[in-house]
Amino acid sequence: MYRDITHLEFDVTELCNLSCVYCYLSGRNNNKFLTRQVFDSFFERFTCSKHHDSKDIDVSFWGGEPLLNFKIIRYIVDKFQEKRHLFGKIQYNIISNGTLIDNEIADFCKKNNINIQITIDGIEEYHNKYRKDKFKGGTYTKIVNGIKILREKGVKYYAKCILSSEKQNISEIIDNLKKERVDNVAFGVVTPTDYFSYQDTTTDLINKFASDIYYRYINDFSLQDNNFIYLNIERVVLHYFSVIPAKSCGIGKHKIAIKNDGTLYLCHRFVNHPDLSIGNLDKGISDRYSFLYNNIVNINKSCNICEYKYSCGGPCVFDIINQDNIQYKNEYVCTFQKAIHFYVYKKITDLIYSNKITSFPTFDKWDADKMINAKCIESSSLVNQDSIFFLSENSHRIDLNDKGIIFLTDRFDKKYIVDSITMAIWDLIDGTRTVKKIIEEIHIACNAEYLKIKKDVCKQLSILEAIGIVKRRKVTT
Ligand code: SF4
Ligand code: SF4
Repeated sequence: MYRDITHLEFDVTELCNLSCVYCYLSGRNNNKFLTRQVFDSFFERFTCSKHHDSKDIDVSFWGGEPLLNFKIIRYIVDKFQEKRHLFGKIQYNIISNGTLIDNEIADFCKKNNINIQITIDGIEEYHNKYRKDKFKGGTYTKIVNGIKILREKGVKYYAKCILSSEKQNISEIIDNLKKERVDNVAFGVVTPTDYFSYQDTTTDLINKFASDIYYRYINDFSLQDNNFIYLNIERVVLHYFSVIPAKSCGIGKHKIAIKNDGTLYLCHRFVNHPDLSIGNLDKGISDRYSFLYNNIVNINKSCNICEYKYSCGGPCVFDIINQDNIQYKNEYVCTFQKAIHFYVYKKITDLIYSNKITSFPTFDKWDADKMINAKCIESSSLVNQDSIFFLSENSHRIDLNDKGIIFLTDRFDKKYIVDSITMAIWDLIDGTRTVKKIIEEIHIACNAEYLKIKKDVCKQLSILEAIGIVKRRKVTT
């Protein structure tokens, strides 16, 4: 039943300690908590489905404010760790408002490599205007204190910053985040709430946000200030330089949300809508919405003709289902996505091609190995050991430090990221060595099993050849 599920979102409490003026879940602020009994019942079924095959999984905790139910987070993480052998890598995430972080929580997060998302809506004055506690006081100082604790304990965290029609200056926000020692931000744009109307949020303004983010990113780059991660830009870069297209957010196949009462949903945004449930612990999951998986960019007519569809992945499926309109897309989110994609596709690649950008240092902060390995494609062409390979005229390379190499050919029509094996053979593909000689040199240099090296070298060369990075000629004796 849960065989394809790799992303789990636990709705650990409906309670929140803040009263943000634009909260889209304000109707559900009550004392409901996920209990051990409900989790155990789910976990027993999940771990019994015997289909995990050491898959990597992603476990997220949502609310309300999830840290109000920290004891269940601790319990769930401990349970997953007990069954560690069933899974590949487990990534834990807490989506928090950041006001309740203390030493105990930070120590636990550090020990279990838990990543925390914290919402900071710009500079202190703006943040405090909208993100208030129950007594209408601002929350900025508490959040900054929480960040300080996380930083001192070495916990991973990043900021989420929502942009709206309020006057906001991107550079000012980034300067402020840097001042508070936050080095990682994901910007979002407003979604419909009672508080924020769209009337004064124009597409021009959203285009300006994207342009400001891009120019600040490039400015940092030119100053070699590479320690700040612009997640919006780098996610698009990662998709753009990958072979496997992003077609959806994974719902309908790989993701479920588990509500505190045990009902199951496509993702956390659905949990307030019982009519949109896809099942419960006893009945399991229905495939009611599975047709949407990986298909939304083709079903939705405006996405279908969008040049960015395989990187963007299309609109939020919750919005589509909630609006009961398969052709719906949030125009503001779409405008933001298109603008960010424009800068990456058109401007950043131009800089790369003209050698003004020659590397992406910030790739180090991503799980680049996983990303790179996922891109390996099999090629059926056989590599003869007498062949000699050489770099084709139009190919271009960008080093990702020690994480891999991006190869580009023919004005970015083809792009490919290779792993460390190909890096090892790269310098030996010089137009003089035979494949046999390359294998022998690597074998001697790293003392690894000859047959394994032969297989790896032949596979990598056949991939590079298939995508036009290298060409070959047969040796003539
Ligand atoms: S950018 Fe807009 S039109 Fe293009 S795929 Fe994304 S949501 Fe669809
Ligand atoms: S994009 Fe929308 S539907 Fe998909 S996981 Fe996010 S909130 Fe849910």
